[in-house]
Amino acid sequence: MAKVFCIANQKGGVGKTTTTVNLAAGLARVGQRVLVVDLDPQGNATMGSGVDKRAMALSVYDVLLESAGILEARQRSEAGGYDVLGANRELAGAEVELVALERRNERLRQALATAAAEPDGRYDFVLIDCPPSLSLLTLNGLCSAHGVIVPMQCEYFALEGLSDLVNTIKQVHANLNRDLQVIGLLRVMFDPRITLQQQVSDQLKAHFGDKLFNTVIPRNVRLAEAPSYGQPGVVFDAASKGAQAYMAFAQELVQRVRTLGMAA
Ligand code: ADP
Ligand code: MG
Repeated sequence: MAKVFCIANQKGGVGKTTTTVNLAAGLARVGQRVLVVDLDPQGNATMGSGVDKRAMALSVYDVLLESAGILEARQRSEAGGYDVLGANRELAGAEVELVALERRNERLRQALATAAAEPDGRYDFVLIDCPPSLSLLTLNGLCSAHGVIVPMQCEYFALEGLSDLVNTIKQVHANLNRDLQVIGLLRVMFDPRITLQQQVSDQLKAHFGDKLFNTVIPRNVRLAEAPSYGQPGVVFDAASKGAQAYMAFAQELVQRVRTLGMAA
């Protein structure tokens, strides 16, 4: 059975999408079958995987409204070596349309279960790139997932707002999805020359202990350049420091999944 993880943080610009596509490509490179679900109407994970969001006949929007299944709507990221259930602006309307529908939180979960029943729809990992909000879209992600990966920058206000996410995760766990847990926090865009970042990193370690991944993703311009080439950073420049860190993170995650007893 696939391990389903949300990449979530209700702040924008904190590295969710960069983490999603690079983790996906990193896992694919070590032989894992991966599906990326883009739940952000901006469609950055879609484009960053080399899939043209404007040219998609079907997207995650159609899946949430149950007018298509995942197997019909998914695209292939040739660059990344994984599949993508893409998103575009259309998804912004889904929020409003879903409110009126039954099982509105569980649309994605149901679609993933239906896909997993087909031999061709089995994945080792499903990575869900969440929008920067605690919306109905994010809720669909959290209701589908076994765990949440939280990318964060080591900045003064990093912890602020994290409590909202943690509370939401607790509520979803209590009321909607008993499987959900925080898998870990990932430090991203790290610059060791900045003393404050070191200090915040130490505080995170003291506060979150084992929940903090050991791998630290450095600030690296190659990771920022990669999306304009429609490639994950780990493919665009595999030798770069950022790419190597994401490869190491993919391996750490595989290890953590084993430790947590989540292996297939
Ligand atoms: P989110 O999905 O949370 O909004 P993104 O992954 O899109 O965040 O990242 C925000 C911006 O920061 C993007 O321009 C991205 O290319 C850049 N970025 C992300 N991670 C890194 C990194 N480790 N080093 C340099 N730039 C990064
Ligand atoms: Mg994003």
